[in-house]
Amino acid sequence: MLPHPGEVGQSDGTEPGEGPSPSLPSGRGDSTRLIPAALSPNLPIMIAMPKPDAAVLQRRAEIAETLRRIVPGEGVIDTPEELRVYETDGLTAYRQLPMLVVLPSTVEQVSAVLAYCHANSVKVVPRGAGTSLSGGALPVADGIVLGMAKFNRVLAIDYDNRCAVVQPGVTNLAITEAVAGRGFYYAPDPSSQIACTIGGNVAENSGGVHCLKYGLTTNNVLGLQMVLPTGAIVRLGGKHLDAEGYDLLGLMIGSEGLLGVVTEVTVRILQRAECARAVLLGFPSSEAAGACVAAIIGAGIIPGGMEMMDKPAIHAAEAFVHADYPLDVEALLIVELDGPNVEVEHLLAAVERIGGQCGAIYMRISRSEEERGKFWAGRKAAFPAVGRISPDYYCMDGTIPRARLPEVLNRMQEMSGRYGLRVANVFHAGDGNLHPLILYDANAPGELERAEAFGAEILKVCVEVGGVLTGEHGVGVEKRDLMGTMFSETDLAQQERLKCVFDEEALLNPGKVFPQLHRCAELGRVHVHRGQTRFPDLPRF
Ligand SMILES: Cc1cc2nc3c(=O)[nH]c(=O)nc-3n(C[C@H](O)[C@H](O)[C@H](O)COP(=O)(O)OP(=O)(O)OC[C@H]3O[C@@H](n4cnc5c(N)ncnc54)[C@H](O)[C@@H]3O)c2cc1C
Repeated sequence: MLPHPGEVGQSDGTEPGEGPSPSLPSGRGDSTRLIPAALSPNLPIMIAMPKPDAAVLQRRAEIAETLRRIVPGEGVIDTPEELRVYETDGLTAYRQLPMLVVLPSTVEQVSAVLAYCHANSVKVVPRGAGTSLSGGALPVADGIVLGMAKFNRVLAIDYDNRCAVVQPGVTNLAITEAVAGRGFYYAPDPSSQIACTIGGNVAENSGGVHCLKYGLTTNNVLGLQMVLPTGAIVRLGGKHLDAEGYDLLGLMIGSEGLLGVVTEVTVRILQRAECARAVLLGFPSSEAAGACVAAIIGAGIIPGGMEMMDKPAIHAAEAFVHADYPLDVEALLIVELDGPNVEVEHLLAAVERIGGQCGAIYMRISRSEEERGKFWAGRKAAFPAVGRISPDYYCMDGTIPRARLPEVLNRMQEMSGRYGLRVANVFHAGDGNLHPLILYDANAPGELERAEAFGAEILKVCVEVGGVLTGEHGVGVEKRDLMGTMFSETDLAQQERLKCVFDEEALLNPGKVFPQLHRCAELGRVHVHRGQTRFPDLPRF
């Protein structure tokens, strides 16, 4: 994350209701508005967002009044102090006070709010717990934040069909807690699981330690109820597997709040394995650890989890939670094997053998549940642990083919020297999902810019070696402008056409995911030749 030490306030200096005063950037047309990462003069990183609609801002009081009739009581927040809570998410470098925050508690309210906003050109940013690391829940100045926190109930647990029906504001961990008594759990387990909501998980297609074997959110969600931007309520999927017609459920999972608002989720629940044991493998180099990851998977073993930490991350985690990690290794793998006892014993022996062949200089197998928990405690606390050794850090999220791990780690080390910034590596090694944490000091002039440039170069390398820009944190605003390194103009236009089918007015979570926003009506006619965009008069950001 990019913690933001600067003065807190709306980026253009106005409070909501003071009228429109968007600061237009020079030379980018009037469809764009830059919001600064921070107000400190040392932090000039800017991000382009759609220009606020002056007519909407002028009608703020009337809009608040109407929304209050839809969501009575304390359902609408409009004071600057209370709005401040919603000005950012886990990507704290970017801040923007929303025009209003609306906190519905029924599906009918969500539907009525969206229908009203649709009819009145009011932008809407859905929000769960606000832990997004890509700025997915960053507000817009002329829009409402639609907070889903009141949708916090587990509606039904169906053990016979191995699924649970929950509201979107239920936290990821609460689903497992609700079914743990009967020996079940919900598999995707982001490190933020104590706070993040299942609605946010669906929007980001979130992952975690156990996704290597058990799949990401998309593999563990069976059905959704959603409200479309027009207010229409739809159901996709259900307790059954697969459905006829287009896979709209698949489309919605990972759609980053751009296509509809999730109001109910049917998740798959799994029975806990008879046995789970973890092994720590220490290596003299990150390359050797990376090669071991590829060798384990190459041998046909799919561990329940396979995580890697490099030396800076190991030392930070050990100092923080005392997990008994070895301190004289350059890289540490935590490999968890789960299943029936006999299978786990067999796999542990195989992993030990492969570790030895790959040059492991340290091996320890957990002998109790307590010890296994300790192995994981260090990994799960690695982000806050790194936060203790550096004033600020920037958490990246890219995915590469596993076999390219040693090469990419080497290139990151070279970049680290070139940018003059340390990097700690913590990642879902089995998935090839890297989380380099770039350490910097936001108060040191130029360091934030260098951290962002370093991060962008890492992501470009991920794409170059055949990987992708994001493994699980989403595109949001953070990686929006890098989408062109991954997709052609034609690819992106095709994705935007899908967005138009659901949200023709581009009112839902605008400014996210797409580096340029085309008007839906014109999209079909836009032809890009050698990078020259036609219709230059169309609003873009
Ligand atoms: C310390 C830390 C560790 C993390 N570890 C992981 C990890 O291991 N794996 C991982 O995948 N992520 C991780 N994350 C990122 C984050 O927790 C996930 O992206 C999570 O899914 C976000 O959930 P949220 O409820 O906080 O959503 P928000 O941050 O509130 O929103 C995220 C996105 O979802 C949309 N959204 C939210 N609710 C809805 C809804 N009901 N309907 C439609 N759209 C909605 C928002 O518009 C936004 O685009 C981590 C974050 C932190 C801070």
